[in-house]
Amino acid sequence: MIDGKREGNDKSNSTLATMRAYSINLLNQAFKEYYFKHTEMVEAPDAIQEREFGYSRFDGTMIRHLSMRDRNELIALLIMNVPADVYCSAAYYTSPTRPMEEKGLKAADLIFDIDVKELKPRCSSIHDIHLCEECLKPIDDTSSICECGSRRINHVTMPCDECISLGKREVKKLAEMLEDDFGVDKDNIKVYFSGNYGFHVYVKGRYTMLDSAARSEVVNYLLGRGVADAIRKRYGKMLREVMKGNRSGNGDWKGRGRRRESRSRRSVNRDDKDEKDDDYHSDVITTSHGYDESLAADGGYGWIGRIVRYLCSNDVSMSMKSIEDAILALSARVDPNVTIDMHRIFRLPGTLNSKSSLAKVPLPRLSDIDSFNPLIDACLISDREVDVYVIDAPRFTLKGNSFGPYTHEEVKLPLYAASYLICKGIAYAKRK
Ligand SMILES: [Zn+2]
Ligand SMILES: [Zn+2]
Repeated sequence: MIDGKREGNDKSNSTLATMRAYSINLLNQAFKEYYFKHTEMVEAPDAIQEREFGYSRFDGTMIRHLSMRDRNELIALLIMNVPADVYCSAAYYTSPTRPMEEKGLKAADLIFDIDVKELKPRCSSIHDIHLCEECLKPIDDTSSICECGSRRINHVTMPCDECISLGKREVKKLAEMLEDDFGVDKDNIKVYFSGNYGFHVYVKGRYTMLDSAARSEVVNYLLGRGVADAIRKRYGKMLREVMKGNRSGNGDWKGRGRRRESRSRRSVNRDDKDEKDDDYHSDVITTSHGYDESLAADGGYGWIGRIVRYLCSNDVSMSMKSIEDAILALSARVDPNVTIDMHRIFRLPGTLNSKSSLAKVPLPRLSDIDSFNPLIDACLISDREVDVYVIDAPRFTLKGNSFGPYTHEEVKLPLYAASYLICKGIAYAKRK
């Protein structure tokens, strides 16, 4: 609870409870208005009768195992119940309302989740906030305990353009691998902003028939799991021979020219100086011994071709270390569990995310991804002004307008900015 002794922060528990009630009321109004005005945004899934639906309320209760006859029934549920979050199964079931083991799984959309938080963006230390859930004091992001003794810390993400771009980069890599390596048609890939801090990528078509084990293999491939080991096993001996050849001055990597050769010699000298037993981690490999023919073939798809193209285009010498770095840079950082679990329910496109009050919205085309700005395009709450008490907020931008920073102060904000902060747990409504 709020520390009553702290100056400028002396809200009693009853005031806090009232402000919480006001906040839920305000969010309820904001969400209701959205569902009234933006019905067209809500995407009913294909084969709607075969899907399981679920929703949560602002009091935290969750209702699952629902089914919908059609889009009208779905819209009626949104407008009448004004859920905090709405979900729909990736799966198609024979009986979606039955308990899980009796639902009768028929197929499931192949869905990938990219969580920007998991990409550990460097800018998060600038804009993210860590608040104690008990006493509401800000906490150092390296600390896991508040001075009040509580370990309940709310890590509030406040995305900026930079970290959103990180997420977009993963989406692009994922889409490229799906198209190039799995032969997925561009039209069968649909990208959504998740409504808070990530992206969902849906794949339709024949991939809906993959079972969980096959999905797991797809994920391992996308993450580049086992690629470094496979290269080490298959090419390790060759790499070591290449290294020896290089040290005795044999040729250079086919087609790489003189600049590469002179740089390589410098690197080799350095290697000689502090050489260890482990050749894999030596800095440079430049001679070919057929390596380039088998690996660098132009247009070669799959991991090997991709790695070689990456090393060439970044002018990086080939070594196990550079190969491992390339795999890390090239892999699509999807959350494995989300894709593998076929029974999972996903936020329904066009509905609001109660962690932010932003909507889960589709990107019209994959090629639009660079111009897509979720802090504008997914911010669809109205802009009438409301009074809020902000505990702590960095400077943030929504709909192209900048706000803050605020620390323990009362401010008037447009409803979209107020609901954004309230959803993130760093502000309260001042009035009903
Ligand atoms: Zn505390
Ligand atoms: Zn950022």
